[in-house]
Amino acid sequence: MSDMNTPGFGPVVRDTASIYADRVDQLYASLPLTFVAIAINGAILSAVMWNAAGHFNVSLWFGLQMALTLLRFGVYQAYRRRSDSGRDSNRWLSLFLAGVLGSGVLWGSSAWLLFPGNDPAHQLFVMFVLAGMAAGAITTLSASFVATLSFLLPALVPMIFTLFRADAPFSATMGLMLALFLVMIATSGWRNNRLTVESLRRRYEREAAEAAIEFQSCHDSLTELPNRRLLVDCLDQEISRCRRHHHLAAVLFIDIDRFKTINDSLSHTVGDALLHEVAVRLKRNLREEDTAARLGGDEFAVILSQLGNDEILAARKTRRLAEKIGNILAEPYEVNGQVLHVTASIGIAMCPLDGADADETLKQSDIAMYRAKQIGRGSIQFFLPDMQQTTQQRLTLENELRHALERDEMELYFQPQLDADGRVLGAEALLRWHHPERGMVSPAEFIPVAEETGIILPLGEWVLASACARLKAWMESEQAGGIAPFPYIAVNVSPRQFRQQDFFQRVQHIIRQAGVDPAYIELELTEGMLIENIDDTAYKMERLFDLGIRLSIDDFGTGYSSLSYLTRLHLDRIKIDQSFVRNAPGDASSATIVQTIIIMAQHLGLEVIAEGVETEAELAFLRDKGCLAYQGFYFSKPLPSEEFFRYLLSRR
Ligand code: C2E
Ligand code: CA
Ligand code: CA
Repeated sequence: MSDMNTPGFGPVVRDTASIYADRVDQLYASLPLTFVAIAINGAILSAVMWNAAGHFNVSLWFGLQMALTLLRFGVYQAYRRRSDSGRDSNRWLSLFLAGVLGSGVLWGSSAWLLFPGNDPAHQLFVMFVLAGMAAGAITTLSASFVATLSFLLPALVPMIFTLFRADAPFSATMGLMLALFLVMIATSGWRNNRLTVESLRRRYEREAAEAAIEFQSCHDSLTELPNRRLLVDCLDQEISRCRRHHHLAAVLFIDIDRFKTINDSLSHTVGDALLHEVAVRLKRNLREEDTAARLGGDEFAVILSQLGNDEILAARKTRRLAEKIGNILAEPYEVNGQVLHVTASIGIAMCPLDGADADETLKQSDIAMYRAKQIGRGSIQFFLPDMQQTTQQRLTLENELRHALERDEMELYFQPQLDADGRVLGAEALLRWHHPERGMVSPAEFIPVAEETGIILPLGEWVLASACARLKAWMESEQAGGIAPFPYIAVNVSPRQFRQQDFFQRVQHIIRQAGVDPAYIELELTEGMLIENIDDTAYKMERLFDLGIRLSIDDFGTGYSSLSYLTRLHLDRIKIDQSFVRNAPGDASSATIVQTIIIMAQHLGLEVIAEGVETEAELAFLRDKGCLAYQGFYFSKPLPSEEFFRYLLSRR
């Protein structure tokens, strides 16, 4: 396992040494067949020549042949039992060549030892057997052309000489024919050798390609860590092992905090380099028996195995290891000359837990990680069964939210905004969700979910479109005559909406479609989303401003308190957050903040409105400090559309 998660290790590809070793292997593999051929042909040749060549010569020749074969058999056995497979191929090849050469010389020696002077039939037989041996050799020795020649030359050349020197009729011609045969058979031996080497090379290429594909299919290409698939396989095996041996293991789900910001703001190259470094650190600091994987994006997982069988001790050990990993990942990173500081949130699931399989265990660690994120960056959190319930509820909510629009469960309420004389200046549109079973669900509960899942995009557009439609209906209604100036409607914009590249075009399109004057629409933005990318923000706001839309900053004072950006943006007003309004009359620091905001707004020429005004005292305080617009329960709760319109008429 440990090899698989070595960054930079990659798939196993054969080197030339191992290809060479394979060729030597092929040569040795053909030896048994060679031994049989030598024994049978040698015995037949000896028997046939027994009288024609003389007993002594034949015995000597056959004895030597058998002695050499036995010797070679010894080498063959030693090769098979060797422990250095792959290494020392040169030595084994030399031994093999020596054997082949000896065998070639012995077969060649038959030209003197077994060649009868004046006996054409027996002469022919010797030549016939030699030719047969030569033909066999080019197949069994095809892995090495040197070996092929080492046999062919000593085996056939002596016979060619003998034939040229003999003075029998045709013997010179036969010598010539045999020489020709040698050339042809050597040529085809050479071609055989090329084919063998080529087919070996093809096989290696195919093996390498297969290994690469196999590797890619279960590893992440950026970090070369195992991917989710392989991790789940490993975890499956780990869980079975744990059940067999009554051991415990743990899965850590690791998520890099703020990774998206780094990736978006510093470029993807930096993001990739960071992820790669995370992988290297994980790998370097794990124990031999542990496995790290990249699940995708900035999510990693680690399987800690062999944690013993005591649950408490195992959990303690896991926490220690998780803390160690967290600390190592939190050390500064140097990427492209920049120093980055990041932390990781870690969720832990112990396993095996009552029947949970690999997928489920991984999911549990994911849930725990999610909880760790909620607690704060760089936290570690164990999975607890009740988390599952919360997650289940959350998933259900998500699912229901997806259908809320098409099922017509959403409604807009309007909360009036008034001036110091009690005139209605405008209204804030606030979403209400009539859940079929749960009744009214608070936007505080579902807006964050909508934001996270992206449902906020269609939902936000629906809000703007509905607000425009309401406004138009009110303005065109007969009863509305005489309301002047007509109130504007403030619509909340979520960060995700505002981040859209074509946010301006979308807003413009919706307002035009509704046929409403943009001057009656106000967009409420929050501080956080404005400073994220200040240049882009300034540009978008300028276009909205030019279109005539009113722009305000919601929840002012709770965000980044960096006021410098205010001067760069086109704005109409700021909304003092309700937390300050609530505390202002009693709490000195809130009072100071409210006062500072009001003074600053006056300096910048911005309108200011206070939200969450609930009491006479709060109103008096605000008015005293110079804040002249208010929204809050003291005047009215958010009202359904009809009711708001009646409220408006009653106030004219
Ligand atoms: P917010 O934008 O700060 O909206 C003001 C919230 O304060 C509203 O809560 C309103 O009902 C409440 N409120 C108004 N006056 C008072 C008061 O005197 N005392 C107290 N205690 N509360 C008061 P609501 O309607 O529950 O909305 C909560 C949040 O949900 C909103 O905070 C806003 O962030 C979000 N939200 C609501 N509608 C939308 C929407 O259409 N789009 C987006 N993106 N967010 C929305
Ligand atoms: Ca608001
Ligand atoms: Ca607010």
